[in-house]
Amino acid sequence: MLLIDNAIVVTMNDDHDVHFDGAVAIDGDRIVAVGSSAAVRAHVSDGPRVIDAQRGVVMPGLVDLHFHTALGRGWIDNLPLTRSLDEFWYPVIRAIEPEDVSRAARLSYLESIRCGVTTVNDMYRHIDALASAAEETGIRAVLSNVVADGEHALDTLADNEAGFRSANGAAEGRIEVRVGIEWLPLSSIGLLHDASALAADLGSGVHIHLNESVGEVQNSLERFGRRPTEVAYECGLLGPNTVAAHCVWLSDTEIGLMRDTGTQISHNPTSNAKLGVGVARVLDYRQAGINVGLGHDSTEGVNTGDLFEVMKFASLVQRAVRMDADLLGASDLLEMATRNGSAALGHDTGILAEGKKADVIVIDLDDLGFTPLVPGNRDHLYSHLAFAASGRAVRTVVIDGVPVMEDRELLTVDEDEVMAEANEAFVRVLEKAGVRFVQAIMADPSERDRP
Ligand SMILES: [Zn+2]
Repeated sequence: MLLIDNAIVVTMNDDHDVHFDGAVAIDGDRIVAVGSSAAVRAHVSDGPRVIDAQRGVVMPGLVDLHFHTALGRGWIDNLPLTRSLDEFWYPVIRAIEPEDVSRAARLSYLESIRCGVTTVNDMYRHIDALASAAEETGIRAVLSNVVADGEHALDTLADNEAGFRSANGAAEGRIEVRVGIEWLPLSSIGLLHDASALAADLGSGVHIHLNESVGEVQNSLERFGRRPTEVAYECGLLGPNTVAAHCVWLSDTEIGLMRDTGTQISHNPTSNAKLGVGVARVLDYRQAGINVGLGHDSTEGVNTGDLFEVMKFASLVQRAVRMDADLLGASDLLEMATRNGSAALGHDTGILAEGKKADVIVIDLDDLGFTPLVPGNRDHLYSHLAFAASGRAVRTVVIDGVPVMEDRELLTVDEDEVMAEANEAFVRVLEKAGVRFVQAIMADPSERDRP
């Protein structure tokens, strides 16, 4: 048994209960007690292992609902979406070998753990390599491939099915596999139908980029005569087991389809902003009753896996464009980053309550950035967590009942080795993929002016 004691416990339950002198007890992979320190201690027997969380907040781990393993941070800072895909991402993921996928995934997962992310919804290639990195680092991972029509030389549905058969349910269920569709511009109607049939056959879910850019909407209208979400709906791809990433340019009709099918949306505002694709109507999606979680997308796009940054930016960008300072408050943001993301994946995490899976993080309040903090004031505390915190404030991370970082020390993998191996891997992949640094591309006037 594991006891996290002497903490402020932020439960994220329906009543937003916070226990200011609280504790959480964990037995195996489940939370068995949450409440005041005295009550939880009375519940615990047999000399538990104790994590003293003094001057800390214990809260549910964050869920990164749209995630790609990544290796090329800082290489394509100025490229718009389609060019970043065609001139960087696709060449890299076509060239990368499983061994380097494993290195990239270990780097990406460790960074997320350091930032308090306990679940990633990762779309990338070579599922077995991703699964071994997830198993080793201790993160909870939902994995899918980058499936597209054959001529694009990415993944096939057969690859994704093979990944499902070998890795779904691994690490005592901590690893799951879903069907991943890259996006509609690389898909035929037949592929989309086959993808939804495969997901249904496997009893699995779907992860898809959907309605990310105006260009994608135009492409869909030209090729199919309908908007992306309408096409996805007709092909059976929408539903409660589908996470649709981005959804920046949904029409009212598309919002209705998302709502009526119970489709889950991953909102990725930092990625959308950095790639210059727009600002999603996320308030309208929430008002329609659609479940919306948050994702960072990839460190190749946004340079950091810190979901606290995404939380804060989600609110700031809506307030800026709508000129309204009362949009997306701290409790909305914390819900999106925890329980909404968990619900989107059908997981039993995201809330600290008896019987839930034990994905728990400790935030260090002993910091100038969280000062002042009025004792016993929940809303003040929420403000710090949503608007002042960054991943660097995370002190301890427990996933599936297992401590994977304690007092900022990673317990599962050697961090120095992971960094050294990722550096080597990127140099190797760059050479093989032949992709240039963005400044070299943009310094060439004929290149710079391309659409
Ligand atoms: Zn993405």
